[in-house]
Amino acid sequence: MIDNNVKKTPDKHADKILAAQKHAEKVRKKNEKLVKKLRKNRWWLSFVMFILTTIFATVLLAIAALWMISYTVEDKIQNEYQNVQRMARIYDEKSEISDSDAYKALRYEERPFYVLDNNGQTKCSYGKNTSIESSGYFMVSTYEAGDISLDEDENIDFEDEDLEEYVDKNIKYQEKNVVVYLDSESEYLQQNDKGEFSVDIMKLFGIDFSLKEGLNIDFTTSDARVVPFWIEIPVKEGKLVAKSSVVVEAKDTAFVVIAVLVYVFIILVGFIIAVVNFVNNLKNHRRVNKLLFTDMATNSHNWTWFLYQGSNLMRRWRNADKNYAVMDFDFVKFRNFCMAHSVQEGERVLCTVDDVICSHLDRKELCSHNSSAHFAVLMKYDTDENLNDRINGILRELEHIDDTHVFSYHVGVDKLNVMYDENGKPIKRKNIDIEKAYNNACAASATLADNDDTGIAFFDEKLLEEQRWLDIVQENQQKALDNEEFVVYYQPKYDPRTNELRGAEALIRWQSPEYGFVSPGRIIPIFEKNGFITEIDHYMITHVARDQKAWLDKGLKCVPVSVNVSRAHFIESDLAEQIRDMIDNEGAPRNLVEIELTESAFFDDKKALINIIKKLKGYGFSVSMDDFGAGYSSLNSLKDMPLDVLKLDADFFRGETDGDRGEIVVSEAIKLAQKLNMHTVAEGVEAREQVDFLAEQGCDMIQGYYYAKPMPKEEYEGRMTSPVAKVEEQPAAEAAKEQPAAVVSTD
Ligand code: C2E
Ligand code: CA
Ligand code: CA
Repeated sequence: MIDNNVKKTPDKHADKILAAQKHAEKVRKKNEKLVKKLRKNRWWLSFVMFILTTIFATVLLAIAALWMISYTVEDKIQNEYQNVQRMARIYDEKSEISDSDAYKALRYEERPFYVLDNNGQTKCSYGKNTSIESSGYFMVSTYEAGDISLDEDENIDFEDEDLEEYVDKNIKYQEKNVVVYLDSESEYLQQNDKGEFSVDIMKLFGIDFSLKEGLNIDFTTSDARVVPFWIEIPVKEGKLVAKSSVVVEAKDTAFVVIAVLVYVFIILVGFIIAVVNFVNNLKNHRRVNKLLFTDMATNSHNWTWFLYQGSNLMRRWRNADKNYAVMDFDFVKFRNFCMAHSVQEGERVLCTVDDVICSHLDRKELCSHNSSAHFAVLMKYDTDENLNDRINGILRELEHIDDTHVFSYHVGVDKLNVMYDENGKPIKRKNIDIEKAYNNACAASATLADNDDTGIAFFDEKLLEEQRWLDIVQENQQKALDNEEFVVYYQPKYDPRTNELRGAEALIRWQSPEYGFVSPGRIIPIFEKNGFITEIDHYMITHVARDQKAWLDKGLKCVPVSVNVSRAHFIESDLAEQIRDMIDNEGAPRNLVEIELTESAFFDDKKALINIIKKLKGYGFSVSMDDFGAGYSSLNSLKDMPLDVLKLDADFFRGETDGDRGEIVVSEAIKLAQKLNMHTVAEGVEAREQVDFLAEQGCDMIQGYYYAKPMPKEEYEGRMTSPVAKVEEQPAAEAAKEQPAAVVSTD
């Protein structure tokens, strides 16, 4: 089984990654909310508050003023009522003596009055009767104890048809029915269309209010304003009606004046607070926006701004009859530029890049600096040519933003085209995720990573497929490893002179219950990038050692099997010990396992590599250099590395190279290896002539379709039982078909 320590680490690692992703998603959502909150400008709030406060204060003021007015008027009527009541009592007392005594006594008061008997006949009177009479009765005011009723004009309503009571509980002589008539000579009377009268309270208090002119209070009038009226008190066998008056003096108006002044003061303070608040709000809002949406490097817009504006635009434009493209502009080798110059110089260039891109966009298109040397762009376009022209226009300018350098850029584009239905109508789009679109654009620009020249790459279905596959592999890798879905295939290596089995290479295959048979070309590059390759290599070494041990136990004639060890491993200083322990744990002899290092591994830390190779050799393993001749020359590596086997890359035997020159190189490579005491293995050999040639040159082993394709272990087991392999004649094209068709018979 696989070492427990080795198995647990990726689990923990995966958990950590998952937790980190969840956390990142949470933080992102939180930040989005925060941005939305910060973006909301509630500048109107202070004004709304102000208006509400004003309305509230006005209502409060009106209620207070009316209450004060009614209180004052009522108080004054009460005083007068007492006086008239006193006259009524005097009349009652004196009339017991004689009517003329009573009349005399009343005249003595010098208040105009008249006394009516129960039939409405005037018994006696003094002064002019100016009371307002209506349908046999006098017009009366509508008073109830301690209350005052108002009509819409804020005037005390004196219009009721029947006599109403003025009940005053504070008055000594408990008279209940008190009737008040208006005086026709009062200058504060107003008459409506029906001919009814009422007292104009506003006029009385010197208050003038109109929507046009606003509130106007006559503060200057110090004269008292007199409102005459008549009070009716029942007397024995009739009623006494006497003239009274309410006098409104300047001091009575004073409270209204004070209230209005306080009101104006409050409103003014409220208004000032609202304005100050508004200005502060606006300033803060601008500051926050600036901080939130400004990129520190370019001093222009940042990624948050792009996301915010882009999402808004996409929401609005999603059903518009327009094509959009989200792009990633990547400044190639920006880091190199910064290292060669300075970070400040780099930032200066980034500013210019930002300026140039922005200058090519119209008002509603977006550009922001994303990270490091990446710029996000949102552009509208009509046709693909139009889009290409615009991008090329930007790139032409960007390449020459500096007199001394020609810069290059990688542009990734995700086109968000309008789709049309069969009637030629645009199909409604779902909400477009701008972040996803930018991610796609980045994925497209990343495909240009190996090229230093300026280029444009478009995101398409193939790339999407690749991304999906990447997701599938990453999601399933651990599960596949745990369930042993990875199987070891063996590709035999034969001696071209004797056709004898001399060795094999272990090659991985993924037999997925969901995705079928997957070749290493589709998974190994992904594992190399995400680091899972180290788990795979451990898995392969362990399984190969286990198989070798089982075959030995069966009594088979085992040959060394090489296992690929990725360069990612070489950062582990105890790699040699790890490999040794894994093989020892399985009980397989060390000389039956060979370690293959790819050429790329030789470009890493040379010293560490030599150290590990020496240790591996010391523990009894063979070490081979894989893919020799592919890519860069590795002659120099041969000089320093104490390797056992040189594997000539399949490239030597492929394609239309000049036959003679190719043969010279291969033959010299074999000689070189021999001089360095190394064995040689030729990979990817498919033709009989190649085998013959290699045998002639002294190549030790051949690993290629000519002899056998990689095969499952059961099939490989069959190869070991036969000491000598006999090669059947077969055309190379036939041999190249997908495995597991072997061309070597093992009879
Ligand atoms: P490689 O190590 O160079 O393995 C040789 C590849 O060449 C194998 O491809 C093999 O099937 C193929 N091959 C051998 N002879 C011929 C031939 O005559 N004609 C043609 N056309 N191809 C031939 P495979 O199995 O698809 O593996 C591809 C690569 O994946 C390997 O190249 C190796 O770099 C990597 N790989 C496979 N298994 C593992 C593994 O377990 N660990 C690591 N780290 N890498 C592995
Ligand atoms: Ca290999
Ligand atoms: Ca190889």
